[in-house]
Amino acid sequence: MFTLTEDQIAIREMARDFANAEIAPFAVEWDEKKHFPVDTLRAAAALGMAGIYVQDDVGGSGLSRLDAALIFEQLATGCPGTAAFLSIHNMATWMIDRFGDEDQRNTWVPRLTSMEHIASYCLTEPGAGSDAAALKTKAVRDGEYYVVDGQKQFISGAGASDIYVVMVRTGGDGPKGISTLVIEAGTPGLSFGANEKKMGWNVQPTRAVIFEGVRVPVQNRLGAEGDGFKIAMSGLDGGRLNIGACSLGGAQAALDKTLAYMRERKAFGQRLDAFQALQFRLADMATELEVARTFLWRAAAALDAKTPDATQLCAMAKRFATDAGFNVANEALQLHGGYGYLADYGVEKIVRDLRVHQILEGTNEIMRLIISRALIAQGN
Ligand SMILES: Cc1cc2nc3c(=O)[nH]c(=O)nc-3n(C[C@H](O)[C@H](O)[C@H](O)COP(=O)(O)OP(=O)(O)OC[C@H]3O[C@@H](n4cnc5c(N)ncnc54)[C@H](O)[C@@H]3O)c2cc1C
Repeated sequence: MFTLTEDQIAIREMARDFANAEIAPFAVEWDEKKHFPVDTLRAAAALGMAGIYVQDDVGGSGLSRLDAALIFEQLATGCPGTAAFLSIHNMATWMIDRFGDEDQRNTWVPRLTSMEHIASYCLTEPGAGSDAAALKTKAVRDGEYYVVDGQKQFISGAGASDIYVVMVRTGGDGPKGISTLVIEAGTPGLSFGANEKKMGWNVQPTRAVIFEGVRVPVQNRLGAEGDGFKIAMSGLDGGRLNIGACSLGGAQAALDKTLAYMRERKAFGQRLDAFQALQFRLADMATELEVARTFLWRAAAALDAKTPDATQLCAMAKRFATDAGFNVANEALQLHGGYGYLADYGVEKIVRDLRVHQILEGTNEIMRLIISRALIAQGN
């Protein structure tokens, strides 16, 4: 558990080298220009990072959740927003691979693992965020089609993506009335809202996805009618680990920048890293990250082993790693003084990017809800 294999060390180095060469030098500029780096994402796909835990017969890398956590942490050292988008694409691609039949897998997944096509995950609605099972986007059966009407909110990649994995209501109220449809860009009646103006994650678009009488073949449904909520939640188990890993990578980069800065910067006649009060803060930052990392690996191993407590452990890991990541990045900004607040130093971007990890893929309050429900159920 605590020692990586030679293969894992090699995978991690590959992702780190890619982040250092292809992402980090451009991250601040991409953020400023709100540039979605599709070419860079495709270059990552060519190295197997667009279908990390997807089966290899459809172009996936067939790796583990732990391998994915190692990759996303390293990619996020270059830019958390870019790494996090790749995580969402991986999650949506895996859902088609895992729950699709052979035809569906062969139709969509190979072009997603190569990233010729890009995928978005569509669960949240204007009136249903944390309470996702209250979603209202309707899919009404009409012969061999569903007719879809409704709106999804805050969809990462919307407008740029080719494939939308969409949770819709095909039955009655609650989670059992939800199904999952794969909807292709260009289907008549599908449109997008304006790109949201955001605090961070500026390297990827976030838009509403609007459905007005969109006709979707019944053969585009993943699994059976009523399976959609279960499919959506199982995607999120892995998504939460990946987002946690992205927080660790961003925070580690902020800590590394801080160590370098404190070596150079002087105050009161000595280097900043000579003040013991500041040394202790560095020690706490490194400790927080190491604890979060070790626990995230444990949750990833539980998901790989499909243990009964895997969902609970993934929620714990997401909550802890995203809180620790944000706090460490924010401390890094403070230790840079006024320069930390300037865009050129790259730290304020990391703080802005990591803030949303505490909100999406289930807020950290909802993570506590998942954990406490499991605890109370065990007690009963
Ligand atoms: C940049 C960005 C990208 C996103 N990308 C996607 C995407 O690609 N696909 C997608 O489907 N969604 C996406 N989301 C949506 C995200 O998952 C939701 O914003 C999130 O789940 C919270 O939902 P909400 O915003 O409606 O907040 P609400 O559910 O309205 O919550 C408001 C507050 O109340 C708290 N709260 C709610 N219920 C409870 C409760 N029972 N107990 C305690 N506290 C509670 C919440 O934790 C939060 O603090 C994205 C969001 C952002 C900001």
